[in-house]
Amino acid sequence: MSDSRQQTRNSLRAGLCADCLHSRRVESAHGSVFILCELSLTDPRFPKYPRLPVLSCDGYKKKP
Ligand code: SF4
Repeated sequence: MSDSRQQTRNSLRAGLCADCLHSRRVESAHGSVFILCELSLTDPRFPKYPRLPVLSCDGYKKKP
């Protein structure tokens, strides 16, 4: 699968987090991939590991 198709699949699964400035992709030892929301470190309204896909979020900021 090409990179761009893979990226499209990832965005569909993660929703807004996929291209959010505050998201960090974390890979577990078992190979599963999840999103860590870095806003959660400073703002308790945001879960550390949001349930994906996130479809609406007040903290969302598109990556430049
Ligand atoms: S701010 Fe919202 S959209 Fe951005 S990473 Fe956190 S939960 Fe996802």
